[in-house]
Amino acid sequence: MGCYLVVTREKIYTGCRFDRQALAAGDKPRALGTRGRAVTTSRKEFRMTELLGSIEAGGTKFVCAVGYGPEDMLSEVRFPTTTPEETLARTIEYFEAQARRHGPIAALGVGAFGPVDIHPTSPTYGRISKSPKTAWIGANIYAPLKQALRVPIGFDTDVNAAALGEWRYGAARGLDTFVYLTFGTGIGGGGMVGGKLMHGLVHPEMGHMKIPHDTASDPYEGRCPFHKDCFEGLAAGPAIEARWGRKGETLPKDHPAWELETDYIALGLMNLICILSPERVILGGGMMQQEHLFPRIRRKVRERLAGYVQAEAVLEKMDTYIVPPKLGNHAGILGGIALAELALRH
Ligand code: ADP
Ligand code: ZN
Repeated sequence: MGCYLVVTREKIYTGCRFDRQALAAGDKPRALGTRGRAVTTSRKEFRMTELLGSIEAGGTKFVCAVGYGPEDMLSEVRFPTTTPEETLARTIEYFEAQARRHGPIAALGVGAFGPVDIHPTSPTYGRISKSPKTAWIGANIYAPLKQALRVPIGFDTDVNAAALGEWRYGAARGLDTFVYLTFGTGIGGGGMVGGKLMHGLVHPEMGHMKIPHDTASDPYEGRCPFHKDCFEGLAAGPAIEARWGRKGETLPKDHPAWELETDYIALGLMNLICILSPERVILGGGMMQQEHLFPRIRRKVRERLAGYVQAEAVLEKMDTYIVPPKLGNHAGILGGIALAELALRH
């Protein structure tokens, strides 16, 4: 299980899943493993993958997909997040239907909204603890999928999954330590430290850090149900809408909302840069489709750091230091594929 055989004119290669094996120029694989597919990753490189499943389990919608990687996705479906029973039943039906069409998946990766228990040894692994979607409080996302699909499952937060997607295929390739933040209904944060996805006591809650709030210039009280004026309470999409009476997507580029917003984002990033020393910061989520925010954020972060962090990346190369996700809005679903790969390896 999980190993393959490649017969070329001169050699026979065997290996385990996802091992890369450079082939001598001109060698053509003639015999492959039974369940997998050959993928050419460069002219001389060949690797074997198996069909993988991915779920981007969001509070608003679920996206499910099967495929082999970014260049070779076979199908994708999205539907609204309703009750846990209905949504998970629909998810399982999708994967069963795909199995009838393409064969069974070898592993599944799930990036879930939260807060959610991501400790594999915990008795409540996969359970949502708190959510504005009350039907989901206490619901387990992992257990019903495991029971129905019976394959290895890589399970993490939605933002860690997207971060892994960027690491495997996108803007964080080759990096050890990076941060991925999403700005939308909330502010989510994840990424890697020392080559490992950030886990811990629970998982990082970067959106809930406290940042300076000058109530004289911004009297808005903040809308986090737990902390009022934490980072998310002041700067996520709903805070913009509540403060200015209009959704962020309808505000012009020169609206004062963006000056305030980029002030807050720069404060949040300064904290993260000083604490984690990331090699790159990726900013995603619906709000970051406002491309004009990036130059302002970069300038303000540099000003805030005030030359103290002596690294070329922040002193001279901000354009490649604070960046949008390379995978755009595919980061989540491809992150699920990357989580599935990890689940196969471990
Ligand atoms: P979610 O966080 O629910 O997955 P989004 O990333 O689309 O979904 O976030 C929705 C929130 O972000 C809303 O508050 C919305 O007003 C805001 N938002 C979404 N897209 C934009 C945009 N292009 N510009 C500004 N705000 C946006
Ligand atoms: Zn908060």
